Amino acid sequence: MSLENVVVIESRPNTRCLRMKIANINGRAHIVTQTGGVDIETASQGKFGADPQRLIEQLDELKAWYAQNKPAEDSSLSTVALQQDLSRLCSPVPNPGQVFAVGLNYKAHGNEVAMAIPEQPMIFTKFSSSIAGPGATIVLPADTVDWEVELVVVIGKRGRHIHASAALDHIAGYCVGQDISERTLQMANNPPQFSIAKSFEAFAPTGPWLTTADEVDVNSLRLTCRAGGETLQDGNTKDMLFNVPTLIAYVSGICELRAGDVIFSGTPDGVGFVRNPPRFIKDGWLLESSIEGLGSMANPCTQRECLV
Ligand code: ZN
Repeated sequence: MSLENVVVIESRPNTRCLRMKIANINGRAHIVTQTGGVDIETASQGKFGADPQRLIEQLDELKAWYAQNKPAEDSSLSTVALQQDLSRLCSPVPNPGQVFAVGLNYKAHGNEVAMAIPEQPMIFTKFSSSIAGPGATIVLPADTVDWEVELVVVIGKRGRHIHASAALDHIAGYCVGQDISERTLQMANNPPQFSIAKSFEAFAPTGPWLTTADEVDVNSLRLTCRAGGETLQDGNTKDMLFNVPTLIAYVSGICELRAGDVIFSGTPDGVGFVRNPPRFIKDGWLLESSIEGLGSMANPCTQRECLV
């Protein structure tokens, strides 16, 4: 697949009419809006379960039920309130079967790491035990841990050999992600060990909630990473080398995509290890990651305590 084959798909709003946000509050799935939240299992009297991972493949039914029943909201669980207290939120995709990640998917990032722009998507995995919530503490195993804010795509429908023009039908929604990376371990071997170096505990914070696919135009979303009042990354998904439909077409041509799988779609420029001098996450940082229309995460970072 060459760059010429990259297909730009206009977003097709309302294809599946799934306009809602689903948050994982203390392990229980909730529909959340600007004005409040609804515990899905309780409000549906058990028609739907509480497991946010399971609900990802039931979004069509959930949407129909929600529209018909219009359950009462708890105003303390609005997106506004939750955004101010992320401690209640766990990952909206807490247990994905497969976690794909894409390296060098923004030209400026490829340039800053002085690597050739790939001719086809560069795919690796983050092991699923690294998934954490949008307010989770990132424990730093070394002093060379780096940041990478990324758009995370959540698959809603199983498929192989999905054509780019049909990709949106397979997407449940999106959330913010951080592809945290321990650079010393990553570069310790030749070839580099991306997957293991990016899979320490809480190295894949995701959230703050799942925003369903029709709410945003995924081809043009600003994404930022900040710490201590400083902007570390400020990019836009329009600068992806391989856009989301192209990534889905490419990956599904090799691996079956299944509901609840996630794709970390690559980071824009501004990472720390290629700076002069190199910079890394410091003990005590609050790492803030935001994507336009999807919300923000704020992850405290602390050094591992000495084990005596
Ligand atoms: Zn990355």
